[in-house]
Amino acid sequence: MDGDILVSRTGTATIMQGATGYLTIDLAALGRNYRKLVSMLAPARAGAVVKADAYGLGAERVAAKLYGEGCRHFFVAQFVEAVRLRPTLVHDAQIFVLNGLQPGNEIACAEMGIIPVLNSLAQWRQWSTTARMLKRCLPAVLQFDTGMSRLGFPREERAELAAALGDGSNIEILFIMSHLASADDMESEQNAEQFAEMTCIADEFPGFDISFANSGGVFLGDAYHGVLARPGIALYGGAPNADEKNPMEPVVSLDVAVVQTRTVPSGTKVGYGGAHVSQGETPLATIAAGYADGLPRSLGDRGAVFYQGIRLPIVGRVSMDSITIDISALPESTLTLGSLVEVLGPHQTLEDIARDAETISYEILTGLGDRYHRQYR
Ligand SMILES: *Cc1c(COP(=O)(O)O)cnc(C)c1O
Repeated sequence: MDGDILVSRTGTATIMQGATGYLTIDLAALGRNYRKLVSMLAPARAGAVVKADAYGLGAERVAAKLYGEGCRHFFVAQFVEAVRLRPTLVHDAQIFVLNGLQPGNEIACAEMGIIPVLNSLAQWRQWSTTARMLKRCLPAVLQFDTGMSRLGFPREERAELAAALGDGSNIEILFIMSHLASADDMESEQNAEQFAEMTCIADEFPGFDISFANSGGVFLGDAYHGVLARPGIALYGGAPNADEKNPMEPVVSLDVAVVQTRTVPSGTKVGYGGAHVSQGETPLATIAAGYADGLPRSLGDRGAVFYQGIRLPIVGRVSMDSITIDISALPESTLTLGSLVEVLGPHQTLEDIARDAETISYEILTGLGDRYHRQYR
Protein backbone atom coordinates (compact mmCIF):
# COMPACT_ATOMS: atom_id res chain seq x y z
CA MET A 1 0.00 0.00 0.00
CA ASP A 2 2.95 2.27 0.57
CA GLY A 3 3.59 4.63 -2.25
CA ASP A 4 -0.09 5.11 -2.94
CA ILE A 5 -1.79 8.24 -1.90
CA LEU A 6 -5.06 6.82 -0.79
CA VAL A 7 -6.77 9.99 0.20
CA SER A 8 -7.16 13.11 -1.82
CA ARG A 9 -6.46 16.24 0.16
CA THR A 10 -9.63 17.92 -0.89
CA GLY A 11 -11.90 15.02 -1.51
CA THR A 12 -13.68 12.41 0.52
CA ALA A 13 -11.81 9.80 2.47
CA THR A 14 -11.35 6.48 0.82
CA ILE A 15 -12.28 4.20 3.69
CA MET A 16 -8.95 2.96 4.98
CA GLN A 17 -9.19 0.59 7.90
CA GLY A 18 -12.12 2.72 9.02
CA ALA A 19 -9.89 5.60 10.04
CA THR A 20 -11.14 9.18 10.15
CA GLY A 21 -7.73 10.80 10.33
CA TYR A 22 -4.85 10.41 7.88
CA LEU A 23 -1.27 11.04 8.86
CA THR A 24 1.01 11.18 5.85
CA ILE A 25 4.74 10.86 6.36
CA ASP A 26 6.80 11.92 3.39
CA LEU A 27 9.91 9.74 3.54
CA ALA A 28 11.36 11.41 0.44
CA ALA A 29 11.19 14.79 2.23
CA LEU A 30 12.79 13.17 5.29
CA GLY A 31 15.62 11.98 3.05
CA ARG A 32 16.08 15.44 1.57
CA ASN A 33 16.17 17.00 5.04
CA TYR A 34 18.84 14.52 6.06
CA ARG A 35 20.90 15.25 2.95
CA LYS A 36 20.61 18.98 3.57
CA LEU A 37 22.03 18.57 7.07
CA VAL A 38 24.74 16.24 5.78
CA SER A 39 25.88 18.84 3.28
CA MET A 40 25.88 21.58 5.93
CA LEU A 41 27.86 19.39 8.30
CA ALA A 42 30.52 17.93 6.03
CA PRO A 43 33.16 16.84 6.86
CA ALA A 44 31.36 16.15 10.16
CA ARG A 45 28.72 13.44 9.97
CA ALA A 46 25.02 13.46 10.73
CA GLY A 47 23.49 10.89 13.01
CA ALA A 48 19.76 10.83 13.65
CA VAL A 49 17.78 11.12 16.85
CA VAL A 50 14.91 8.65 16.58
CA LYS A 51 13.74 8.70 20.20
CA ALA A 52 10.02 8.65 21.03
CA ASP A 53 9.31 6.59 17.90
CA ALA A 54 11.19 9.10 15.75
CA TYR A 55 9.19 11.98 17.23
CA GLY A 56 6.01 10.06 16.54
CA LEU A 57 6.75 9.34 12.86
CA GLY A 58 7.69 5.67 13.27
CA ALA A 59 11.25 4.84 14.29
CA GLU A 60 11.54 1.72 12.21
CA ARG A 61 10.48 3.35 8.93
CA VAL A 62 12.44 6.51 9.62
CA ALA A 63 15.63 4.69 10.61
CA ALA A 64 15.43 2.41 7.56
CA LYS A 65 15.05 5.42 5.26
CA LEU A 66 17.95 7.27 6.89
CA TYR A 67 20.13 4.19 6.82
CA GLY A 68 19.55 4.17 3.07
CA GLU A 69 20.76 7.78 3.00
CA GLY A 70 23.99 6.77 4.73
CA CYS A 71 23.14 7.41 8.38
CA ARG A 72 24.87 4.95 10.72
CA HIS A 73 24.40 6.59 14.15
CA PHE A 74 20.94 6.35 15.69
CA PHE A 75 20.08 7.85 19.05
CA VAL A 76 17.15 6.78 21.21
CA ALA A 77 16.36 7.93 24.73
CA GLN A 78 15.40 4.69 26.42
CA PHE A 79 16.74 1.18 26.41
CA VAL A 80 13.36 -0.29 25.36
CA GLU A 81 13.44 1.83 22.21
CA ALA A 82 16.85 0.43 21.32
CA VAL A 83 15.64 -3.12 21.93
CA ARG A 84 12.77 -2.56 19.49
CA LEU A 85 14.90 -0.89 16.85
CA ARG A 86 17.99 -3.12 16.99
CA PRO A 87 16.62 -6.12 15.06
CA THR A 88 15.23 -3.87 12.31
CA LEU A 89 18.59 -2.31 11.45
CA VAL A 90 21.61 -3.67 9.66
CA HIS A 91 24.47 -4.58 11.95
CA ASP A 92 26.74 -1.68 11.04
CA ALA A 93 24.15 0.81 12.30
CA GLN A 94 24.95 1.81 15.86
CA ILE A 95 22.20 2.53 18.37
CA PHE A 96 22.95 4.79 21.33
CA VAL A 97 20.80 5.12 24.44
CA LEU A 98 20.89 8.75 25.55
CA ASN A 99 19.48 8.15 29.03
CA GLY A 100 22.27 5.69 29.65
CA LEU A 101 22.31 2.49 31.63
CA GLN A 102 19.61 1.49 34.05
CA PRO A 103 20.50 -1.14 36.65
CA GLY A 104 19.37 -4.49 35.31
CA ASN A 105 19.85 -3.65 31.62
CA GLU A 106 23.61 -4.11 31.44
CA ILE A 107 23.84 -7.70 30.21
CA ALA A 108 21.05 -7.32 27.65
CA CYS A 109 22.61 -4.08 26.47
CA ALA A 110 25.99 -5.76 25.98
CA GLU A 111 24.56 -8.83 24.33
CA MET A 112 22.36 -6.90 21.90
CA GLY A 113 25.21 -4.61 20.92
CA ILE A 114 23.35 -1.52 22.13
CA ILE A 115 25.65 1.33 23.10
CA PRO A 116 24.90 3.22 26.31
CA VAL A 117 25.67 6.89 26.72
CA LEU A 118 27.28 6.95 30.15
CA ASN A 119 26.15 10.00 32.09
CA SER A 120 27.70 9.52 35.50
CA LEU A 121 30.35 7.66 37.47
CA ALA A 122 27.61 5.33 38.70
CA GLN A 123 26.80 4.33 35.10
CA TRP A 124 30.50 4.11 34.28
CA ARG A 125 31.06 1.65 37.16
CA GLN A 126 28.05 -0.43 36.16
CA TRP A 127 29.32 -0.77 32.59
CA SER A 128 32.86 -1.46 33.73
CA THR A 129 31.69 -4.19 36.10
CA THR A 130 29.64 -5.72 33.28
CA ALA A 131 32.66 -5.70 30.97
CA ARG A 132 34.74 -7.45 33.63
CA MET A 133 32.04 -10.03 34.20
CA LEU A 134 31.69 -10.76 30.48
CA LYS A 135 35.48 -10.61 30.02
CA ARG A 136 34.94 -8.20 27.15
CA CYS A 137 35.73 -4.66 26.22
CA LEU A 138 32.41 -2.83 25.89
CA PRO A 139 31.68 0.28 23.80
CA ALA A 140 30.21 3.45 25.28
CA VAL A 141 29.79 7.15 24.73
CA LEU A 142 30.51 9.65 27.51
CA GLN A 143 28.12 12.55 27.93
CA PHE A 144 29.21 15.64 29.86
CA ASP A 145 26.97 18.26 31.39
CA THR A 146 28.04 21.63 29.97
CA GLY A 147 25.32 23.66 31.63
CA MET A 148 21.93 22.07 31.14
CA SER A 149 21.95 20.15 34.43
CA ARG A 150 19.94 17.33 32.92
CA LEU A 151 22.16 14.44 31.87
CA GLY A 152 25.88 13.89 31.69
CA PHE A 153 28.90 13.78 33.98
CA PRO A 154 28.75 16.80 36.26
CA ARG A 155 31.91 18.86 36.63
CA GLU A 156 32.62 17.35 40.08
CA GLU A 157 32.92 13.86 38.62
CA ARG A 158 35.39 14.74 35.87
CA ALA A 159 38.61 14.29 37.90
CA GLU A 160 37.62 10.85 39.09
CA LEU A 161 36.53 9.88 35.58
CA ALA A 162 39.84 11.05 34.14
CA ALA A 163 41.67 8.97 36.77
CA ALA A 164 39.59 5.91 35.92
CA LEU A 165 40.38 6.40 32.23
CA GLY A 166 44.07 6.83 33.01
CA ASP A 167 44.12 3.52 34.85
CA GLY A 168 43.15 1.88 31.62
CA SER A 169 39.73 0.36 31.36
CA ASN A 170 37.68 -2.23 29.62
CA ILE A 171 35.37 0.39 28.15
CA GLU A 172 35.98 1.54 24.62
CA ILE A 173 34.93 5.18 24.34
CA LEU A 174 33.58 5.83 20.84
CA PHE A 175 33.17 9.57 21.32
CA ILE A 176 32.30 12.16 23.92
CA MET A 177 29.24 14.36 23.74
CA SER A 178 27.19 17.12 25.32
CA HIS A 179 23.81 18.67 24.63
CA LEU A 180 22.90 22.30 23.95
CA ALA A 181 20.03 23.76 25.96
CA SER A 182 19.33 26.85 23.83
CA ALA A 183 20.53 25.99 20.34
CA ASP A 184 17.16 26.96 18.87
CA ASP A 185 17.97 30.55 19.85
CA MET A 186 21.01 31.73 17.89
CA GLU A 187 21.23 34.84 20.09
CA SER A 188 21.36 32.94 23.37
CA GLU A 189 24.54 33.43 25.41
CA GLN A 190 24.14 29.91 26.69
CA ASN A 191 25.43 28.54 23.37
CA ALA A 192 28.83 30.18 23.81
CA GLU A 193 28.90 29.28 27.52
CA GLN A 194 28.32 25.62 26.77
CA PHE A 195 30.80 25.73 23.92
CA ALA A 196 33.48 27.11 26.27
CA GLU A 197 32.76 24.38 28.79
CA MET A 198 32.96 21.73 26.07
CA THR A 199 36.34 23.12 25.02
CA CYS A 200 37.61 22.67 28.61
CA ILE A 201 36.31 19.13 28.63
CA ALA A 202 38.01 18.38 25.32
CA ASP A 203 41.28 19.57 26.92
CA GLU A 204 40.74 17.40 29.98
CA PHE A 205 39.84 14.38 27.86
CA PRO A 206 42.05 14.77 24.82
CA GLY A 207 41.97 12.56 21.79
CA PHE A 208 38.27 11.80 21.67
CA ASP A 209 35.87 12.66 18.88
CA ILE A 210 33.14 15.10 19.87
CA SER A 211 29.40 15.12 19.26
CA PHE A 212 27.71 18.37 20.26
CA ALA A 213 25.09 19.77 17.89
CA ASN A 214 21.40 18.94 17.85
CA SER A 215 19.27 20.43 15.03
CA GLY A 216 19.71 24.00 16.23
CA GLY A 217 23.43 23.39 16.80
CA VAL A 218 23.93 22.46 13.16
CA PHE A 219 22.92 26.03 12.27
CA LEU A 220 25.21 27.66 14.86
CA GLY A 221 28.22 27.15 12.61
CA ASP A 222 31.13 24.78 12.08
CA ALA A 223 32.58 25.23 15.56
CA TYR A 224 29.56 23.44 16.99
CA HIS A 225 29.68 20.49 14.63
CA GLY A 226 32.29 18.25 16.24
CA VAL A 227 32.56 15.07 14.21
CA LEU A 228 28.99 13.85 14.62
CA ALA A 229 25.80 15.90 14.95
CA ARG A 230 22.59 14.57 16.48
CA PRO A 231 19.69 16.25 14.70
CA GLY A 232 16.12 15.29 15.52
CA ILE A 233 13.39 17.84 14.87
CA ALA A 234 14.97 19.28 11.70
CA LEU A 235 14.84 15.87 10.05
CA TYR A 236 11.11 15.76 10.72
CA GLY A 237 10.49 19.20 9.26
CA GLY A 238 10.41 21.21 12.48
CA ALA A 239 12.20 24.55 12.61
CA PRO A 240 15.70 24.21 14.09
CA ASN A 241 15.76 27.88 15.06
CA ALA A 242 12.76 29.49 16.67
CA ASP A 243 13.03 32.94 15.10
CA GLU A 244 14.39 32.14 11.66
CA LYS A 245 12.55 31.08 8.53
CA ASN A 246 12.32 27.28 8.64
CA PRO A 247 14.85 25.92 6.13
CA MET A 248 13.57 22.35 6.41
CA GLU A 249 10.94 20.65 4.27
CA PRO A 250 7.70 19.54 5.92
CA VAL A 251 7.52 15.79 6.40
CA VAL A 252 4.17 15.31 8.11
CA SER A 253 0.69 16.20 6.97
CA LEU A 254 -2.53 15.44 8.76
CA ASP A 255 -6.03 15.41 7.33
CA VAL A 256 -9.08 14.73 9.46
CA ALA A 257 -12.61 13.80 8.40
CA VAL A 258 -15.80 15.68 9.10
CA VAL A 259 -18.22 13.53 11.08
CA GLN A 260 -21.15 15.94 11.31
CA THR A 261 -22.24 19.37 10.13
CA ARG A 262 -25.01 21.64 11.38
CA THR A 263 -26.06 25.28 11.37
CA VAL A 264 -26.83 26.82 14.75
CA PRO A 265 -28.77 30.02 15.45
CA SER A 266 -27.19 32.96 17.21
CA GLY A 267 -26.61 32.46 20.93
CA THR A 268 -26.06 28.67 20.77
CA LYS A 269 -23.57 27.07 23.12
CA VAL A 270 -20.87 24.98 21.45
CA GLY A 271 -18.86 22.22 23.12
CA TYR A 272 -18.02 21.34 26.72
CA GLY A 273 -18.87 23.90 29.33
CA GLY A 274 -20.78 25.93 26.77
CA ALA A 275 -17.55 27.89 26.63
CA HIS A 276 -18.32 29.19 23.16
CA VAL A 277 -21.59 30.89 22.24
CA SER A 278 -22.33 31.54 18.57
CA GLN A 279 -22.54 35.14 17.43
CA GLY A 280 -25.11 35.02 14.68
CA GLU A 281 -26.27 32.01 12.73
CA THR A 282 -23.21 29.80 12.23
CA PRO A 283 -22.55 26.71 10.14
CA LEU A 284 -20.39 24.26 12.10
CA ALA A 285 -18.58 21.03 11.37
CA THR A 286 -17.31 18.48 13.86
CA ILE A 287 -14.09 16.72 12.90
CA ALA A 288 -12.86 13.38 14.18
CA ALA A 289 -9.77 14.19 16.19
CA GLY A 290 -9.30 15.61 19.65
CA TYR A 291 -6.82 15.80 22.45
CA ALA A 292 -6.56 12.00 22.60
CA ASP A 293 -5.19 12.27 19.05
CA GLY A 294 -2.63 14.84 20.05
CA LEU A 295 -4.47 18.07 19.29
CA PRO A 296 -4.05 19.93 22.58
CA ARG A 297 -6.95 21.43 24.52
CA SER A 298 -5.08 24.71 24.39
CA LEU A 299 -6.21 24.99 20.74
CA GLY A 300 -9.77 25.56 21.94
CA ASP A 301 -11.16 28.86 20.58
CA ARG A 302 -7.64 29.71 19.29
CA GLY A 303 -6.48 27.31 16.62
CA ALA A 304 -7.86 26.51 13.20
CA VAL A 305 -7.91 23.95 10.43
CA PHE A 306 -7.91 24.61 6.69
CA TYR A 307 -9.93 23.57 3.69
CA GLN A 308 -8.48 24.39 0.29
CA GLY A 309 -6.48 27.16 1.91
CA ILE A 310 -9.43 28.69 3.76
CA ARG A 311 -9.03 29.09 7.50
CA LEU A 312 -11.75 27.47 9.61
CA PRO A 313 -11.43 28.49 13.26
CA ILE A 314 -11.82 26.02 16.11
CA VAL A 315 -14.81 26.96 18.23
CA GLY A 316 -15.29 25.95 21.84
CA ARG A 317 -13.20 23.45 23.70
CA VAL A 318 -11.26 20.61 22.11
CA SER A 319 -12.91 17.32 23.12
CA MET A 320 -11.14 14.00 23.60
CA ASP A 321 -12.19 12.67 20.19
CA SER A 322 -13.46 15.65 18.25
CA ILE A 323 -13.19 19.34 17.53
CA THR A 324 -15.87 21.70 16.27
CA ILE A 325 -14.97 24.26 13.62
CA ASP A 326 -16.73 27.29 12.23
CA ILE A 327 -17.20 26.75 8.50
CA SER A 328 -18.95 30.00 7.64
CA ALA A 329 -16.02 30.97 5.40
CA LEU A 330 -17.03 28.21 2.98
CA PRO A 331 -19.94 28.12 0.52
CA GLU A 332 -22.88 26.14 1.89
CA SER A 333 -22.63 22.31 1.61
CA THR A 334 -18.93 22.42 0.76
CA LEU A 335 -18.14 20.15 3.68
CA THR A 336 -20.18 17.02 4.17
CA LEU A 337 -19.81 13.80 6.11
CA GLY A 338 -16.40 12.36 5.27
CA SER A 339 -14.87 15.52 3.82
CA LEU A 340 -11.27 15.99 4.87
CA VAL A 341 -9.86 19.15 6.41
CA GLU A 342 -6.18 19.99 6.73
CA VAL A 343 -4.76 20.07 10.25
CA LEU A 344 -1.12 19.97 9.15
CA GLY A 345 -0.15 20.61 5.57
CA PRO A 346 0.60 23.34 3.06
CA HIS A 347 -1.50 25.97 4.87
CA GLN A 348 -0.74 25.09 8.47
CA THR A 349 2.77 24.15 9.53
CA LEU A 350 3.86 22.36 12.68
CA GLU A 351 5.10 25.70 13.98
CA ASP A 352 1.72 27.34 13.30
CA ILE A 353 -0.21 24.79 15.28
CA ALA A 354 2.41 24.66 18.03
CA ARG A 355 2.19 28.43 18.43
CA ASP A 356 -1.61 28.38 18.62
CA ALA A 357 -1.40 25.58 21.19
CA GLU A 358 1.28 27.48 23.15
CA THR A 359 3.70 24.62 22.85
CA ILE A 360 6.55 23.49 20.58
CA SER A 361 6.62 21.43 17.40
CA TYR A 362 8.25 18.55 19.30
CA GLU A 363 5.25 18.16 21.59
CA ILE A 364 2.80 18.27 18.69
CA LEU A 365 4.69 15.61 16.71
CA THR A 366 5.28 13.23 19.59
CA GLY A 367 1.67 13.57 20.69
CA LEU A 368 0.06 12.57 17.37
CA GLY A 369 -2.03 9.58 18.31
CA ASP A 370 -2.31 6.09 16.93
CA ARG A 371 -5.91 6.36 15.70
CA TYR A 372 -4.78 8.01 12.50
CA HIS A 373 -4.20 5.89 9.46
CA ARG A 374 -0.51 6.31 8.74
CA GLN A 375 0.66 6.36 5.20
CA TYR A 376 4.30 6.59 4.17
CA ARG A 377 5.21 7.93 0.80
C1 LIG B 1 16.55 15.03 21.71
C2 LIG B 1 18.02 15.18 21.64
C3 LIG B 1 18.65 15.59 20.45
C4 LIG B 1 17.88 16.05 19.24
O1 LIG B 1 17.44 17.37 19.45
P1 LIG B 1 16.68 18.20 18.30
O2 LIG B 1 16.49 19.53 18.92
O3 LIG B 1 15.39 17.49 18.07
O4 LIG B 1 17.54 18.20 17.11
C5 LIG B 1 20.02 15.57 20.41
N1 LIG B 1 20.75 15.21 21.49
C6 LIG B 1 20.19 14.86 22.66
C7 LIG B 1 21.05 14.49 23.81
C8 LIG B 1 18.81 14.85 22.78
O5 LIG B 1 18.24 14.52 23.95
